[in-house]
Amino acid sequence: VAYYLHNIKEKAELNAFLEVFEEEAFAQADAVSKKIANGTAGKLAGMVIGIKDVLAYEGHSLQASSQILDGFKSLYTATAVKRLLAEDAIIIGRQNCDEFAMGGSNENSSFGPVLNADDPTRVPGGSSGGSAAAVQAELCLASIGSDTGGSVRQPASFCGIVGLKPTYSRISRFGLISYASSFDQIGIITHSVEDAALLLEVMAGPDDLDSTVSHREVPAYSQQLATNDKKFRIGYIKDCFEREGLDAEVKDCILGVKSMLKDAGHEVEAVDFPYLDFIVPTYYILTTAEASSNLGRYDGVKYGFRSPNVTDLESLYKKTRSEGFGEEVQRRIMLGTFVLSADYYDAYYTKAQKVRRLIKEKTDELLQSYDFLILPTAPTTAFKIGENSENLLAMYLADIFTVQASLAGVPAISIPVGRDEKGLSIGLQLMSRSFEEASLLAFSTYIM
Ligand code: GLN
Repeated sequence: VAYYLHNIKEKAELNAFLEVFEEEAFAQADAVSKKIANGTAGKLAGMVIGIKDVLAYEGHSLQASSQILDGFKSLYTATAVKRLLAEDAIIIGRQNCDEFAMGGSNENSSFGPVLNADDPTRVPGGSSGGSAAAVQAELCLASIGSDTGGSVRQPASFCGIVGLKPTYSRISRFGLISYASSFDQIGIITHSVEDAALLLEVMAGPDDLDSTVSHREVPAYSQQLATNDKKFRIGYIKDCFEREGLDAEVKDCILGVKSMLKDAGHEVEAVDFPYLDFIVPTYYILTTAEASSNLGRYDGVKYGFRSPNVTDLESLYKKTRSEGFGEEVQRRIMLGTFVLSADYYDAYYTKAQKVRRLIKEKTDELLQSYDFLILPTAPTTAFKIGENSENLLAMYLADIFTVQASLAGVPAISIPVGRDEKGLSIGLQLMSRSFEEASLLAFSTYIM
């Protein structure tokens, strides 16, 4: 704890943490040391973990990096966080992110951007940017983030670490601030696949407080990391590699891994995925629709911030929401409200639902023939702060490789596989069949 607290202070300019629980972390460490001494310590004894500012932790501030939740404190603890604590993890602080997890660069936080520790003029990715930079810079051992359309995988790729989005419903979402509920998953950011496996094992599984959570048995992922020389069938989506905007060095690096796998005796084949052009629009129609509904609750009455300039109920809603939400969140609420409005519902929302179904069916079909699909996590390495903020379309299109797994609900992981000439890290993304995190993790350790 002292080591990480020292690093947090030393690297405060990264802006990764919104709040550090110094005293509490020391108290937890003391308690854990005693348990270790008497042999009763849990599986995560001594693991120092940071949590993204979208996870409830009783008695602690919770803001989703937004001003609209200014002053709000959690009344309960997220199931995932509770399970970490029950296994004696130490929670060291609350991490910066894009406001309500909407973004891919951590530039949308009302607390300012997070910097990439490899090059502080660049973004760490987003929305779990603080969580990724914190692991990258050794401010904590692991972070718990959320991934709706890539928010743990893409920042992991930009920061040279591991980011896992489990199957939709594998981890209870109770206590996770909702962005787009049919996509949201708690995700894990670590240096090693082994740590990710252990954390998944602890957090996954049934929970009476989340009716959507899976009741499937949770394998001992951390004990199943050997591939025992098994040869796998691997598909790579051809069109991904022919995309305009895919950085040449990223492309070469991922194709290099592909060849390495082939040389090692795995069956590697090119596959077609005909819906690549539709995945980003489908993702943004559905997620903004769900967000516009989910964020309706922040009305100035129940939570956090209330505008001081209100004259009546109508102005309370309007002023609170226009002063409390940042620009990107307002844009998405409006887009989502539009696609759900009576005149446009069928043209946008219903149609996007149908396209989502096609994307899911095609993805599942490919994963019947192949154990894993491989592709880049992101089209580029970490970009400069401000570089994409004027070009929203470019920012949204940069999610092209991560949103497929989110639309399909399948698990996906980003692992670091190389660096470009500037020394910036490149992530390889792997997807597997739903609930096959065990083989996904095992294969990731094999590649790393
Ligand atoms: N960049 C994507 C978005 O802005 C993903 C965000 C996320 O996964 N929370 O929606």
